[in-house]
Amino acid sequence: MQAILVTNDDGISSPGIKALARVLKQLGDVYTVAPEGEQSAVAHSLTLHKPIRSTHAAEKAYFINGTPTDCVILAVNKLLPVRPDIIVSGVNSGANLGDDITYSGTVAAAIEGTLLGIPSIAVSLVRENNSNGNRSSTSGFLTAARYARDIAARVLEKGLPGNTLLNVNVPHVRRIKGIRITKQGRRVYDNLVQERHDPRGREYYWIGGTVPVWESPEDSDFAAVREGYVSVTPVHLDLTNYQALRYLEETWGMTHKSQK
Ligand code: MN
Repeated sequence: MQAILVTNDDGISSPGIKALARVLKQLGDVYTVAPEGEQSAVAHSLTLHKPIRSTHAAEKAYFINGTPTDCVILAVNKLLPVRPDIIVSGVNSGANLGDDITYSGTVAAAIEGTLLGIPSIAVSLVRENNSNGNRSSTSGFLTAARYARDIAARVLEKGLPGNTLLNVNVPHVRRIKGIRITKQGRRVYDNLVQERHDPRGREYYWIGGTVPVWESPEDSDFAAVREGYVSVTPVHLDLTNYQALRYLEETWGMTHKSQK
């Protein structure tokens, strides 16, 4: 029996994680360790200066007062009776496309899993306005969870290249056309910060909240979901820009030691 760790950044009570845990039971033993409440956009933050407590919520399910990264570290090192064969983070309520993955707690959990040497997948449901609006998404989360299950099964069978996680985005449409392997797209910052005035006339700022505009080459994550495909982007954790090694060598007149 394979051991599967499920986590997220929307909190243990979110519909996305419930759908994911339920569907992944078809693949193995599912353990859920998730934040107590909403931790979206916390990125890869780690709790170092206050106590973290875990609460046993149900069989094989815990919530903690920490971040998604805390969840993975605690789950793997303390809470689970076995080392997970795979970590699946999500299903996030809202897209994690392009540059936005650098803010994402959902993706950060998969980053932490990858750093611990465990194959990891982040899964997000792309909702129309990317908010937690009123429209019910139960069927969307379930569909996304089923794609997560199929992709997790492939990863369990074939593995993943080193230092690499999969970032999966599932469009919330009636008929999904299939799966596309994609590259990370790029957001164009358009009206990113909104300026408003409070009732006393003082200005305040609100980051985001507008519909983002994307540069979307055909093979990008954004183009895939826009066209009704599930996007699967392999994300590499080595952030070194290898071409820039050469650029720095040439422009700074220094050499990069390629071998020890
Ligand atoms: Mn979230």
